[in-house]
Amino acid sequence: MNNPLFSLEKRTALVTGSSRGLGLAIATGLAEAGAAIVLNGINADRLEESAARLRDRGFAVTAAAFDVTDEASVVAAFERFDAEKLQIDILVNNAGIQYRKPIVELDSANWQRVIDTNLTSAFLVSREAAKRMLPRKRGKVVNIGSLMSGLGRATVAPYTAAKGGIKTLTQSMAAEWAEHGVQANAIGPGYMLTDMNQALIDNPEFDNWVKGRTPSKRWGKPEELVGAAVFLASDASNYVNGQIIYVDGGMSAVI
Ligand code: NDP
Repeated sequence: MNNPLFSLEKRTALVTGSSRGLGLAIATGLAEAGAAIVLNGINADRLEESAARLRDRGFAVTAAAFDVTDEASVVAAFERFDAEKLQIDILVNNAGIQYRKPIVELDSANWQRVIDTNLTSAFLVSREAAKRMLPRKRGKVVNIGSLMSGLGRATVAPYTAAKGGIKTLTQSMAAEWAEHGVQANAIGPGYMLTDMNQALIDNPEFDNWVKGRTPSKRWGKPEELVGAAVFLASDASNYVNGQIIYVDGGMSAVI
């Protein structure tokens, strides 16, 4: 039985950083639940390839290449959506990067780049989305945090700072928008099999550490985020606000 609470029919979802990895898996899952999808990334060729594959499956897909860290590009993208009468009902702030360096060796340009891509982007894109959702009194913002939203870890200081910020930014969004019918929540993935982690996946010591410390004893698959994403994007979560759902094989519960 299809439960209508989880249906995303007649909604349009923008997923940032969805040309590959977790963003593409989430966008695909939202499309399977009925949403029209706006894919985003920087590499226009990769974006088009992913969009074409989804269109081949019969999904309604728009490809919007823009840099989520660049304020003017974000504003221009939403102006284009307005001109094309593309109404964003669901926003998933997923674009992100990681950079590994001990704090004492970290230069400020790389600190800033990680903060901008993982945290400031969520502010910039959500601001433009919310300006349009709030008057309609309907909208869903889903921010992709991390297991690191609640933890520090050596060599990834700007990443943990940004992902910790995602958690409290989500709470502030909920505080401002809940009474206006717009819900903001977050997902905290654990160690997932994507390009971002390829060097770690290929490192037997790290691979064993992940498998040993995760109660599920394995890395997560990108499609395992879909359930939480559809829940938080759908009417099933209308009274859920400012929360982070960890999808991490249980790691946050024990680490
Ligand atoms: P990937 O490196 O596989 O993919 C990153 C995506 O983000 C790509 O689509 C990339 O586009 C896009 N992107 C990067 N920078 C920008 C930018 N400035 N503007 C627009 N798009 C951008 O990463 P993952 O799928 O692994 O990670 C996705 C999110 O999930 C990130 O926020 C990450 O921090 C978070 N996360 C990941 C975990 C993991 O284990 N993988 C664990 C916890 C959280 P392009 O193809 O053009 O480069």
